[in-house]
Amino acid sequence: MFVSSKEMIRKAKAGGYAVPAFNAENMEMAQAIVAAAEEANSPVIIQTTSPTVKYFVPTMTRAIVEELASKAKVPVALHLDHCTSFDDVMVAIRAGYTSVMFDGSKLPFEENLRLTKQVVETARPMGVTVEAELGCVGGKEDNVSSEDIYTNVDEAKQFAEETGVDLLAIAIGTAHGFYKGEPKLDFDRIEAIRDVVEAPLVLHGGSGVPEASVKKSISLGMAKVNYATELRAAATKAVRAVLTDESVIDPKKYMGAAREAVKALCLEKIDFCGSRDKA
Ligand SMILES: [Zn+2]
Repeated sequence: MFVSSKEMIRKAKAGGYAVPAFNAENMEMAQAIVAAAEEANSPVIIQTTSPTVKYFVPTMTRAIVEELASKAKVPVALHLDHCTSFDDVMVAIRAGYTSVMFDGSKLPFEENLRLTKQVVETARPMGVTVEAELGCVGGKEDNVSSEDIYTNVDEAKQFAEETGVDLLAIAIGTAHGFYKGEPKLDFDRIEAIRDVVEAPLVLHGGSGVPEASVKKSISLGMAKVNYATELRAAATKAVRAVLTDESVIDPKKYMGAAREAVKALCLEKIDFCGSRDKA
């Protein structure tokens, strides 16, 4: 089933689990994500960043994901991750993305609010889910890099009410990329924001966050958890291992190995999110 992300995430929030959102960089990763979701009977979101969209072509991404989703019995959504351009958000929507993130987190508060509201007003009539970010998740997500600025609770309330956004990414101490040590998460902040914001909350920078911290974040209100870095690393590591054998010349050999590695990792993260058998 090819669906919008809104319904599956609302259901997750009500059920006390989260929908895992996995970044795909190519067809094999998209296949791996859907195969893992099918095996675990879990709802799933496949997402692509703006640079990946440019590499992959948005209509081709949609065609591949829609084809995979139409053959799957679990709900699959296609989401645009971290897009800082209003125009690029519109390109993705026209290409058939069912969910988009407009990331105005580096803009002044009022500007982020104004542009997010504009994206919501444009996307909603088309049935497209909109995620926004307030505060700033640190680290590097493709071409978006930033210092971590924790989300302010009062601003979150005002922002969610005035924009009517479907999903809100908040900064609570996670970062994009790999962590040097164990991340220190501000769990109290998740709870405080959950209490004043009706929209489901999104945890970015899920790669490397220990299982217990992911589970605690979900119990306090996170309903979508993003994984990108670990998937990329697993795919690349698998390719490298196969290519140590210099007689290998068939891309199916090493890309197939990447697909298996990504699927195994997705299955682990599905269990972190508690979404097994929730499709
Ligand atoms: Zn992110």
